[in-house]
Amino acid sequence: MQNEQQGRSVLVTGGNRGIGLAIARAFQANGDKVAITYRSGEVPEGFLGVKADVTDAASVDAAFSEAEAAHGPVEVVVANAGITRDTLLLRMSEEDFTEVIDTNLTGAFRVIKRASKGMIRLKRGRVVLISSVVGLYGSPGQINYAASKAGLVGIARSLTRELGSRGITANVVAPGFINTDMTAALPEETQKNYLGSIPAGRFAEPEEVANVVRWVASDEAAYISGAVIPVDGGLGMGH
Ligand code: NDP
Repeated sequence: MQNEQQGRSVLVTGGNRGIGLAIARAFQANGDKVAITYRSGEVPEGFLGVKADVTDAASVDAAFSEAEAAHGPVEVVVANAGITRDTLLLRMSEEDFTEVIDTNLTGAFRVIKRASKGMIRLKRGRVVLISSVVGLYGSPGQINYAASKAGLVGIARSLTRELGSRGITANVVAPGFINTDMTAALPEETQKNYLGSIPAGRFAEPEEVANVVRWVASDEAAYISGAVIPVDGGLGMGH
């Protein structure tokens, strides 16, 4: 079973840093062929970097074509690219809201739409959407972000109903607080408050999310679809 899984064509959006890079490394360690999307800057060594902005369907299409030319049809896609524009509702501009939706939610739609073509032909595939504990738990100052991350659950569940009979699974991984640039940007007070409410008593490392993503994309998880898998130290339990 392990051998069948190796050498798959994997594409991770926003794989140049943070959680995405840890996910890319986990698949690479599994023996898969990994393409990561990046917008600018350096491609981490050892990966095929394909330029893509998930707010632009043509750019997503070009990135997939490049990855497929090198590695074959994408069998595992991880929609990980995401942004925050945090502020309280009364101060949140429509632009703050739509920018976050366009990247985190519509961006994931563009990515899975492009990925599904090859998966349907292959008659197998793994879609993993990186959401957040905030999507279901809620968070003051993150109405835009929470809406975008909750929307991913609807995508995974509808995709499961559309394509579940074709050997394709779609799941959501919902991290809690992970040590990356995104959380480093949070005010110290906010970080302290959250720390106090996490049963595990700590933030996690990106690798702890990556291992779950790798597993849910494995043959071992073939019968799991439309699930929301928390990696949050117990912060959101029950939701
Ligand atoms: P980072 O801010 O460290 O990295 C974000 C990644 O997304 C970067 O690779 C960035 O690319 C990419 N990205 C952003 N916008 C676009 C775009 N328009 N097109 C293509 N790529 C884009 O974030 P994290 O690693 O912390 O987060 C990764 C995912 O995990 C996000 O979806 C986030 O919401 C989610 N998450 C994170 C948590 C955390 O605690 N860190 C908790 C829960 C969820 P570039 O380098 O070019 O900017």
